[in-house]
Amino acid sequence: MRCNACWREVEGRAVSTTCGHLLCTEDASKILGNDGACPICDQVLSKSLMKPVDINPNDEWVNMAMAGVSPQILMKSAHRSIMFYIGQKELEMQFKMNRIVAQFRQKCEAMQEKFTEKLEQVHTAYQKMAKRCQMMEQEIESLSKDKQELQEKFAEKSRQKRKLDEMYDQLRSEYESVKRSALQPATNFYSRNEPDLFSNQANILDNREAVRKAS
Ligand SMILES: [Zn+2]
Ligand SMILES: [Zn+2]
Repeated sequence: MRCNACWREVEGRAVSTTCGHLLCTEDASKILGNDGACPICDQVLSKSLMKPVDINPNDEWVNMAMAGVSPQILMKSAHRSIMFYIGQKELEMQFKMNRIVAQFRQKCEAMQEKFTEKLEQVHTAYQKMAKRCQMMEQEIESLSKDKQELQEKFAEKSRQKRKLDEMYDQLRSEYESVKRSALQPATNFYSRNEPDLFSNQANILDNREAVRKAS
């Protein structure tokens, strides 16, 4: 059996209480010294409520302790002792269960802590990624804006080039026609009916005189 305070296995001498609990001698004297209470049921304990017991009594005790006691009392005492033993086993089981539950809870808490840590890491990584995505989106937006501008500039330059091409073609054809006419036979050149601006200068002067007179 185990002490109900420190849960160490008790051997030899121990103390049983009237409230049905068992203590090692060290814990029993500690409780008595501090005017303390039973660790299981909180009953305030005094020396009169505690009884020393021998957990492993010798043969002499076994043979003589109950000698002279009537079978009725003996059976009653045996029943009480067995009930005490069962109570102790139940307490031990409860203690073990509590310990297992506490260990399990501790493990769960440690796992939860780790899980929370991992979750935070994942969340941080996700936030970083989201930020990067946002930056990339902005970059894409600015690049597409640049692209649009470049396309517009390209279209404008193409228009200008087309115009220049047209001008070039026009000039070229003009040049070709001038060149063609320059290369034609001389008879054609002289056959043109050009007005002779210098032949009738006298007439112009006369006309000027006429205008002056009229005014
Ligand atoms: Zn103890
Ligand atoms: Zn008690």
